[in-house]
Amino acid sequence: MAEAKIIDGKAFAERLRGKIAEEVAELKSKHGLQPGLAVVLVGEDPASKIYVRSKEEQTEQVGMRSIGHRLPADVPEAELLDLVGRLNADRGVNGILVQFPVPEHLQQAAIVAKIDPDKDVDGLTVTNAGRLASSLPGLVPCTPSGCLMLLQDALGSLRGKTAVVVGRSNLMGKPMAQLLLGADCTVTIAHSRTADLAGVCRQADILVAAVGRAEMVKGDWIKPGAAVIDVGINRVPSRDPVKAAEGKTRVVGDVDFEAARQVAGWITPVPGGVGPMTIACLLQNTLIAARRQNGL
Ligand code: NDP
Repeated sequence: MAEAKIIDGKAFAERLRGKIAEEVAELKSKHGLQPGLAVVLVGEDPASKIYVRSKEEQTEQVGMRSIGHRLPADVPEAELLDLVGRLNADRGVNGILVQFPVPEHLQQAAIVAKIDPDKDVDGLTVTNAGRLASSLPGLVPCTPSGCLMLLQDALGSLRGKTAVVVGRSNLMGKPMAQLLLGADCTVTIAHSRTADLAGVCRQADILVAAVGRAEMVKGDWIKPGAAVIDVGINRVPSRDPVKAAEGKTRVVGDVDFEAARQVAGWITPVPGGVGPMTIACLLQNTLIAARRQNGL
């Protein structure tokens, strides 16, 4: 069998950002509206700082306003909630994102609950989870939304396909399953207690792995010709033993890519597959939020 086609998330995300930039320009020229995204970063976590910087850069690149807020790691929760309240009330802010994880003394659930669901561009509030489950318009978590776009781009209609999502987090697995259901797939959600995980995966025309375990999904877990979406981001030691001894790492997904590409019909690489879609979908959510808040 031929090797799987590679789903190029980097190229797709670039096209999506181009489309968003055009729509932002049109909003500005026709309605005098420039969507604004507020990003709140608490503390100095190096990975979060890099991630926030690229969100802010890409926000500006598509012509939106980026509103950054940096708070010290020991900020009292009341102060953070107060900031979110002010961003909720600010008409120039269409989307609000608090970068997680936050330091341990802060409760993620309380922070998310404070965000106005109509500005919740991460799609994390209970209201948006409920809207998604009830097929109502809302804001959908960015990564699953990006996975759905990649699948629809590769396969066209997903109607009637058997989909298996491995992972049941609120951020990824559950919304992914809801989106696939909405696209008329027959959906199974698997998790750490699933019996015969390999056998369940082997049924899938569409297999989404969102686990966080390096190369857990093996080649013989995949149905020949299936579309495989690998959400995992895992750091493992470098292949080069000298570099590995120096502590150098590389990033792999939840799928054994080399084995899987011999069996699958389509597959996302890590990096360069799902990852780049997340920020592009965040920008798209900000655009959707800005339009809705202005009755457009
Ligand atoms: P969570 O840790 O919240 O959830 C992991 C899920 O995997 C859980 O539902 C867990 O099951 C399940 N799981 C764990 N071990 C097994 C196992 N041995 N067999 C079957 N299922 C298992 O992770 P997230 O959903 O937040 O993220 C998943 C991965 O996706 C991570 O690698 C993360 O880094 C990556 N990610 C990438 C993004 C991007 O590309 N931008 C964005 C978001 C996430 P149980 O519920 O039973 O414990």
